[in-house]
Amino acid sequence: MPSVATNGTNGTNGTKGLPDFQFFNIIDGKRRTSKDHHQVTDPRTEEPLWDAPIASTKDLDDAVEAANRAFKTWKNSTTAERQKAVHDVANVILENVDILTEAQMKETGKSRPMSRFDVERAAWHFEYYRTVALEDELQYEDDTIRIIATHAPIGVLGAISPWNFPLILSTVKVVSALATGNCVIIKPSPFTPYSLLKFCELAQSVLPPGVFQALNGGADLGEQMTLHAGIHHISFTGTIAVGQRILRNCAGTLKKVILELAGNNACIVCDDVDLDKVVPQVATGALFHAGQVCVASKRLYIHESIYDRFLERLIEESKKFAVDDDESVSFGPLSNKANYDRAVGIVEDCKRNGYKIVTGGEVKPREKGFWIPPTIVVRPPEDALVVREEQFAPIVPVMSWAEEDDVIARANIDNAGLGASVYTPDLDRAQKIARQLESGTVWINQFERPHHAGFFGGWKLSGFGGELGKQGLLHYCHTQSLQIAK
Ligand code: NAD
Repeated sequence: MPSVATNGTNGTNGTKGLPDFQFFNIIDGKRRTSKDHHQVTDPRTEEPLWDAPIASTKDLDDAVEAANRAFKTWKNSTTAERQKAVHDVANVILENVDILTEAQMKETGKSRPMSRFDVERAAWHFEYYRTVALEDELQYEDDTIRIIATHAPIGVLGAISPWNFPLILSTVKVVSALATGNCVIIKPSPFTPYSLLKFCELAQSVLPPGVFQALNGGADLGEQMTLHAGIHHISFTGTIAVGQRILRNCAGTLKKVILELAGNNACIVCDDVDLDKVVPQVATGALFHAGQVCVASKRLYIHESIYDRFLERLIEESKKFAVDDDESVSFGPLSNKANYDRAVGIVEDCKRNGYKIVTGGEVKPREKGFWIPPTIVVRPPEDALVVREEQFAPIVPVMSWAEEDDVIARANIDNAGLGASVYTPDLDRAQKIARQLESGTVWINQFERPHHAGFFGGWKLSGFGGELGKQGLLHYCHTQSLQIAK
C-alpha cells in the first residue's frame, strides 16, 4: 500500500465537472472533517477526484471510545431489533443508489451499470441477514445436564477493506458485525474511500451512534487499528503479505482475526465440454473487471485434446473485453496506478522470458488511463511469474493438462486457497475433482461469483475465517457453552 500523500486542502473537488460531493470520517454518529486530505486519481482520466479526509490517531481513539460505549447497549439488542436495523440499512443503500454508484464508479473506473450492480448487491447483503441469524443450539441433554451453544458478539470490530469492490467487500463485514451485535469501525482502501465514507454517513440515519463508523487512511491507520487495545477483532481483506503482517500485529492483544486474502485460482476445463457454453464463461471468469477480482480465474488449465480449439475461441471471446470500448459494462481500466504498474511488470516479465503472447501485451494502449488489454499467454511454465502469482489484471496464462491427478496437483499451490472452477457436463466427475481442490469455494460450470448464502473464505495462504451464509456469522462471534445442571 502506497503512503497517502496529503495536500492539506479541505472540502474541494479535484476536477471541474465532478458532482459536488463532500466526504467525512464518521465518528460517534457525526461527520468529522480532517486537517489532512488526499485525492484519488480517476483511473479512466488520470484526473484528481474529490478530497478525502485522512483520519488522525485522535480520530481513531475517539471512534474506539464511541464504539465501546455503543457496544454496551448494542450487544444486548434482540435479533429482531438487529434484523430491523439491517433492513433499514438496505433501504438506505437503495434510496441512495445514484450517489453511491457515482462515487464508486469514479474511484474504481467501473462502468456505471457495473458500479450500480455492485451497490445493489451491497444492499442484498443486508437484506439476506434480515432473515438469517444464529440461534442457540442444543448440543447435548441427559438426565443430569443440558448443554446449549449460544453465540455472543466479540466487541468492537476493526474492518479493513481493499479497493476492487469497495462497497460489496466492506458491507459484508459491516452487516456480519451488526447482525451479530458487534460494533464496527471500517477503514476503506485509500484508493477507494468515497463510496464507503458516503455509505457510512448515510447509514447513520438508521443506526445508533458509534455502532457503525468509518475512518479513511492508509497502511499506518490500518496498522494502528490492528494494534489498538480497544479493538477486539479484525476482519481484513487484501493481499497475503499485509494479512501476514496483520496477524503478527494482532498477536500482541490476541485479537480474533479473519483474513480474506488473495487467491491464485485455477480453472480446470475438461475434454467433454461444450465450447459454445464454456468459453464465454471462462473468459468472463478471467477478464471481468479487468481481472481485478479475488476469485477470478487466474490460471486456466485446458484439457490437451481441446486446447487449440479452446484457445482460438478464447482469443475471439477476449475481444469483447476491449480497451477502446468506453461502453463496456464489465471491462475497464485497472483501478489504480499501483496495480497498473504491477501488471505492467508481469507483462514485461512474460516478454523478457519469451513466453508466447497471442493477443494483447500492450501496456499503454490509450493515452490516458490505467488500461491493459486482455493479454493471453500460451503455455508459460508453472514457475513463471504470471502463473505463480495472482495477476489481478487481464493477463491470462493458459496451460494444458492430460491427467486429472496432475492437474489437481498443479491447481493446489499454496496461494490458490480461495477459489477454483471446474467445467465438465459430467457432474460426478466435476464433484470428484472439486472435492480434491484445496480452496474455500469451487464453482462448477459457472464463472466465479460469490453468493450471499454460501460461506466464503480462504484456505492455506488465502487466509482463514470467512463471511457470508449463516456460517459466516460464526466468525463474528464467540461460541459460549451453557452447561446447565439438572
Ligand atoms: P492491500 O493488502 O494492499 O490493502 C488492503 C487494505 O489493507 C487497505 O485498506 C490498506 O490500506 C490496508 N493496509 C495496508 N497495509 C496495512 C497494514 N500494515 N496494516 C493494516 N492495514 C493495512 O490489498 P489491496 O491491493 O487493497 O487489494 C487487493 C488484494 O486483495 C488482492 O490480493 C486480492 O486478491 C485481495 N482480495 C481478496 C478478497 C477475498 O475475499 N479473499 C477479496 C478482494 C480482494
